Amino acid sequence: MGLVVQKYGGSSVADAEGIKRVAKRIVEAKKNGHQVVVVVSAMGDTTDELIDLAEQVSPMPAGREFDMLLTAGERISMALLAMAIKNLGHEAQSFTGSQAGVITDSVHNKARIIDVTPGRIRTALDEGNIAIVAGFQGVSQDKKDITTLGRGGSDTTAVALAAALDAEVCEIYTDVDGVFTADPRVVKKAKKIDWISFEDMLELAASGSKVLLHRCVEYARRYNIPIHVRSSFSGLQGTWVSNEPTGDKVEQAIISGVAHDTSEAKITVVGVPDKPGEAAAIFRAVADAEINIDMIVQNVSAASTGLTDISFTLPKAEGRRAIDALEKAKEAIGFDSLRYDDQIGKISLVGAGMKTNPGVTADFFRALSDAGVNIELISTSEIRISVVTRADDVNEAVTAVHSAFGLDSDSDEAVVYGGTGR
Ligand code: ADP
Ligand code: ASP
Ligand code: MG
Repeated sequence: MGLVVQKYGGSSVADAEGIKRVAKRIVEAKKNGHQVVVVVSAMGDTTDELIDLAEQVSPMPAGREFDMLLTAGERISMALLAMAIKNLGHEAQSFTGSQAGVITDSVHNKARIIDVTPGRIRTALDEGNIAIVAGFQGVSQDKKDITTLGRGGSDTTAVALAAALDAEVCEIYTDVDGVFTADPRVVKKAKKIDWISFEDMLELAASGSKVLLHRCVEYARRYNIPIHVRSSFSGLQGTWVSNEPTGDKVEQAIISGVAHDTSEAKITVVGVPDKPGEAAAIFRAVADAEINIDMIVQNVSAASTGLTDISFTLPKAEGRRAIDALEKAKEAIGFDSLRYDDQIGKISLVGAGMKTNPGVTADFFRALSDAGVNIELISTSEIRISVVTRADDVNEAVTAVHSAFGLDSDSDEAVVYGGTGR
């Protein structure tokens, strides 16, 4: 029996009962002969509540202090979980990210893991303990400050530890039975996927399926760590994410699923001179503010004015900073004005099979048009098509596309066991 890393999300440890339930599950794995490392998120909506609190004190809190605050959430759950396990008669020790050897760069609020040195975790395991590690946090290599990995970052902590400890599997426990063909909160007829490739899972995660964080899937692919996404509320098999199908009945689907995302906003830079170097200057200003952008469109310039508009999407949370950065560079770039729109949503269809099935794009657009959904931006990769629409249209669009591609299940409705989906 090898080493397993189990990660429990906030909805699985939302209250004392949840913590006790999860503790039993962890002890079961230990009794089955595994060495068990547990990564735990903050209880329920704690992280959101801490963010709300910070905003009441300061509209733009300093990154260092913000991280110090947010990591408190995981400290609470890790200590309580260790206590609950001890109460069941088993040895457990909790560790902060820093104590567990999670070393990051020093970009506060979205630090990247650059090394994992889990010496203390190894020792704890060798002494017969269950090791509990606070997710979503690390310590910066140069300044030795506490950092966080970005929202949902506990998934990444879990996979990074699994890689560093050479675990046989990384189990991600959440409030649904696995990865579905669409978010079960939106599409009741979504189907559970038995196996999905890293490649397709990466695209789903990048397109907003927050059941797994994009960075965690990237990490798992790089180190070839199989992930098993499953519910902490049921005993069912979940979804395996790996390079190759594991069971005998699973094979690559043409379309893996439909993802949606309402966490982005759109900025339009109006009246940009249509000459070389303008786009470079705009996106340099945004990049220098450490902001990642997603989709871009440039309109055809009106011949009479020689001016064009450039729109791009970015996380809403970065909207303010992007506007500030562009305003500062306004004179140098020479555009007229900026428009900010946070009422947008993105719908993406993902599947490696679309490489070889030419009708997929046409069917996708047909489904959207039949549902009366207007498309504002389009982007594609080899295995994904994404469109931006009005935020109000997103649920209807996801449901329509899911049906049109024959993904609806005809049996059990997808179950959401807990959480607020916040
Ligand atoms: P945790 O607190 O366990 O990290 P998250 O809220 O981050 O849980 O992720 C689980 C949620 O992801 C589910 O409740 C579901 O609403 C959402 N989700 C979005 N897309 C999918 C999908 N394709 N399959 C399963 N869940 C999805
Ligand atoms: N507690 C953090 C968050 O809510 C990290 C995580 O849950 O993965 O984003
Ligand atoms: Mg999550």
